Amino acid sequence: KAKQLLDAQEKYESNNRSYPRSFPLAPKRAKGTIIEDVDGNQYMDFFSLCGVVNVGHGNEDVLTATRAQLEELIHAMDFPTETKLAYIRNLNQHLPESLNGKVKINFCGPTGADAVEAAMKLARLHTKRNLIISFQGSYHGMTTGALSVTSNRNSRKGLAVLNQGHHFAPFSYCYRCPYGKEPDSCKIECASHLRNLLENPHSGIDKPAAVLMEPIQGEGGIVIPKAAFHQEVRNICDEHGVMLIHDEVQAGFYRTGKMLSSEHFGVTPDVVTMSKGVGGIGMPCALLVIKKEFDTWGGGTHAGTFRGHQVSMAAGNAALHFIEEHQISQYVTEAGALLFDGLNTIKKQSPFIGEVRGAGLFLGVEFVKNKKTKEPWPEYCVRLRQRLFENGVLIEVGGYYSNVIRILPPLITTRNMLNTFLEIFDRVNSEIAK
Ligand code: PMP
Repeated sequence: KAKQLLDAQEKYESNNRSYPRSFPLAPKRAKGTIIEDVDGNQYMDFFSLCGVVNVGHGNEDVLTATRAQLEELIHAMDFPTETKLAYIRNLNQHLPESLNGKVKINFCGPTGADAVEAAMKLARLHTKRNLIISFQGSYHGMTTGALSVTSNRNSRKGLAVLNQGHHFAPFSYCYRCPYGKEPDSCKIECASHLRNLLENPHSGIDKPAAVLMEPIQGEGGIVIPKAAFHQEVRNICDEHGVMLIHDEVQAGFYRTGKMLSSEHFGVTPDVVTMSKGVGGIGMPCALLVIKKEFDTWGGGTHAGTFRGHQVSMAAGNAALHFIEEHQISQYVTEAGALLFDGLNTIKKQSPFIGEVRGAGLFLGVEFVKNKKTKEPWPEYCVRLRQRLFENGVLIEVGGYYSNVIRILPPLITTRNMLNTFLEIFDRVNSEIAK
């Protein structure tokens, strides 16, 4: 049956698919961490269908709230509703001290790129400047504006309309430090590059409206920077009156154990983009968290029909309640440590695992042909992803060189299942390494 569906899709749907090219899945139903396909095969979803179902597929508490909202009110444009205000209040409660009560929430269109577009527009209107600086290895979405600040050459090729007034600064990617430094002794040269861009009269760029960054890069291969890098970027933005936008579309909503991944680094952004997890169980939703002093756009400046869908907001709010009641934050920290340690044990015996990194249940395993030369090995990852699929495990590949396995299970994945994953990963990895 799966084969029939995949063939039919090939025939009738525009040739524009991405994930079915990674593995041939035809899902039928899903619960918790498990997805069942149309033939009754079960898979452990260790990428949460793109970092979305943080509280698990079909989470019962969230489903109940979603059903109730469906019965009562589905579409209300951007009129005030009790559902919306309850969600806004709860979102505030979950934000770190430095933002809680000091922000306005801006619901955008349904998807992550909508939040990124809105954030960049706000920065431009607020500062009356145009340039946005983002980072090498970044992913911000596929709409024209968001793609303009996304660094992957392959995604950008053939689109001459992009590239206007943007710049990509090096990220703090210590395993592949572009300056050849070691993390313990470096002087955060990556951040110095950003400073130089802003301060050198011959840098060739205008003063930017904003610096836009993922606090931990997701598609870029779960690249987790040094805290000092984040702090220095914050300082540079403050010194130059540049807005700091954090894209938490993938790393936010407790993926790393904290509501915002920036909480790990002790920095507070001016604007945050969020999506994926904020719709609870996969209901489309995207929003901005804006520090009040930056909420300067006038009414109607950024309109849209589907801004803040009632069902998505009810689902997102129920997800936050679930996270609180079940102490998910604590669990993610413990479960993340279990997975991190397990992967590091596997790394010790594997000649091809260069690095294991990440935070909470947001982990990356970087594969290389040789640990000394660090030559990336993307083909290994493709094979690993395929073999894991055949063994009932879904993971995704990312990274600057497509050589990083990205591991993002739902935050409710049991310790048993994490251990099962580690066993399968170890076995499949050893098979391929032979
Ligand atoms: N920002 C980040 C950090 C993302 O990971 C993604 C999606 N992978 C996006 C933005 C874009 O989100 P969407 O695909 O929902 O437009």
